[in-house]
Amino acid sequence: MTRSDQKAVLDAVPTGVLVGGEWREAAGGGRFTVSDPATEEPLVDVADGQPEDAMAALDAAAGAQAGWAATPPRERGEILRRAFGLLTDHADELALLITLEMGKSVAESRAEVAYGAEFFRWFSEEAVRVEGRFSRAPATPERLLTMKQPVGPCLLITPWNFPLAMATRKIGPAVAAGCTMVVKPAQLTPLTTMRVAELLGEAGLPTGVLNVVPSTSAGRTVGPLMGDDRLRKVSFTGSTEVGRTLVEQSAQNLQRMSMELGGNAPFLVFADADLDAAVEGALLAKMRNNGESCVAANRFHVAAEVADDFARRLADRMGALPVGHGADDGTKVGPLINEEQRGIVEDLVADAVDKGAKALTGGSRVEGKGFFYAPTVLGGVGPDARILREEAFGPVAPVTTFGSEDEAVRQANDTEFGLVAYVYTADLKRALRVVEALQVGMVGLNRGLVSNAAAPFGGVKHSGFGREGGSEGIEEYLDTKYVAIDM
Ligand code: NAP
Repeated sequence: MTRSDQKAVLDAVPTGVLVGGEWREAAGGGRFTVSDPATEEPLVDVADGQPEDAMAALDAAAGAQAGWAATPPRERGEILRRAFGLLTDHADELALLITLEMGKSVAESRAEVAYGAEFFRWFSEEAVRVEGRFSRAPATPERLLTMKQPVGPCLLITPWNFPLAMATRKIGPAVAAGCTMVVKPAQLTPLTTMRVAELLGEAGLPTGVLNVVPSTSAGRTVGPLMGDDRLRKVSFTGSTEVGRTLVEQSAQNLQRMSMELGGNAPFLVFADADLDAAVEGALLAKMRNNGESCVAANRFHVAAEVADDFARRLADRMGALPVGHGADDGTKVGPLINEEQRGIVEDLVADAVDKGAKALTGGSRVEGKGFFYAPTVLGGVGPDARILREEAFGPVAPVTTFGSEDEAVRQANDTEFGLVAYVYTADLKRALRVVEALQVGMVGLNRGLVSNAAAPFGGVKHSGFGREGGSEGIEEYLDTKYVAIDM
C-alpha cells in the first residue's frame, strides 16, 4: 500500500470510545485530531474520552471478568491465534496506518506488525500452559497445592512509539490469562490500537473483555480508575516520570504494577570486536524506529584505539540513509513524532557540540514541513555532555571513548536507567564478565536487536519492573493462590 491508499486505511479505523463492545461518542461529544508528523496535516478526528468513559469502560471490564476467567484457556488461546492471523492478513493496511500516525518508514512499520502480531501467537500458546504445583510439606503430613488465577480487570497504558506492538504486548498476555481490560492508547497515535481492538472483536473476543479509551487528558481520565477497588492491575509503558506517578497512585488500592519505563542504552565496542558487525549492529540499535525506541542505543562507548574508525564508518552509513515521508519508496528515516521531541534532540546536540563534540554527519533539523531531523553522528563527545545521561529519543549517535574494560563497565552503568545494553567483543570471557557486570534487564551480545516475543522484555533501576513476553509475560497477569491440605 502507498500514500494513495491513505483514505481507505483511515476510513477503516473506528474513531469512538470502545465500551462493552460498542464504539460510541465520548461523554460530552468532544473529539481531537490525529495528525501525520511528516506533513503536519490532520488525518482523522477521534473521540476524546473523559473520566465518565473510563469508568464506563471499567464497569464493562469488571462485568465481563468472571465470565472471561471461566472461559476455557483453549478458547482464549484460539481467539488470540485468529487475531494473529487477522493482523498478519491486514499487515499492509496496519503498516500504512502506523506510518501515517507515527512517522517511521513503511518497512519498519511492517516489522512492527510482524513483531506485534507475534505476541498474539506466542500468548495463544501460553494460554494453555498456566500450571500449578502439588507437593508434600517437607516435615509434616499436609499437602501443598498452588494454582494461578487471573488478577482481574487491568488498565493498560501505551506510548506513541510502537502503537501496535506496545498494545499487543499487554493485550496478548491479559487475554491469555483471563483478564479483562481498559486500554488507554497514546493521544498522538491511537488509531492503530483502535483498529487492532476491532480486529480482536472479529477474532471472537467477547464484548467487554477489551475496552479502549483514547483521550487528550490521560491523568484526569484514568485517575478515577486508580482509585477504584475493582481495578486490580496496571501495566504501563512510557516515561519514568509518569510511571512514578502511577506507582504513587497505586499505593491506595495496591494494584499489581508492571512498569516499562525509559532507557539510556549504552553500546560498548571493544577493540577486539568485529568492527563491520559492530557498525551494522549500531545502525540497527540506533536507527530502528527513527531512534525513538526505549531500547535505542543512546550512547556509544568505544575503545579508544578503534573509536575514530568506528565513528567514521557509522557516520558514512547514517549520512546515507534517505530521509522522507515514511510511506514514500526508499525512505529509511521518517520524521520525529512532534516539534517538542525534535526540540529535545536539538538541545542535546547543541549541548554536546558546545562541550567540544563534532558532528561527523547531520547535526541539524531538516527544514520544511514535518518534524524531520538529519541522522547525526557526534564524535569526541565529552563526559559532561547531557546526551550521555538523558534519553535523546532521536537519530543521534554520540561516540565517546574508554581505555579499559573496567572503565567501559563504569561508564555503561553510570545512569539511573537500566533497560538494555549492547556489547560487541570477540572475547567470550570478556563478554560474560561484562554481561554479568552490567546493571540492565537485557543485553544484546554482538547483536543490535533484543526484542522478541518469546523473551522477557524489561528493565531494572529507573527503567521499571516486570517483564513482557516470554514465559514471564503471562505471570504479570496471574495471582498465585496456595492451598494447605490436611491429610
Ligand atoms: P509518556 O508521556 O509517559 O506517555 C505514555 C502514556 O502514558 C501515554 O498514553 C500518555 O498519554 C499516558 N499518560 C501521560 N500522563 C499520564 C498520567 N498522569 N496518568 C496516566 N497516564 C498518563 O511517554 P511517551 O512520551 O508516550 O513515550 C516515550 C517514553 O516511553 C520514553 O521514555 C521511552 O523510553 C518509554 N518507552 C519504554 C518502553 C519500555 O518497554 N521500557 C517502550 C516504549 C517506550 P498521552 O499520550 O495523552 O500523553
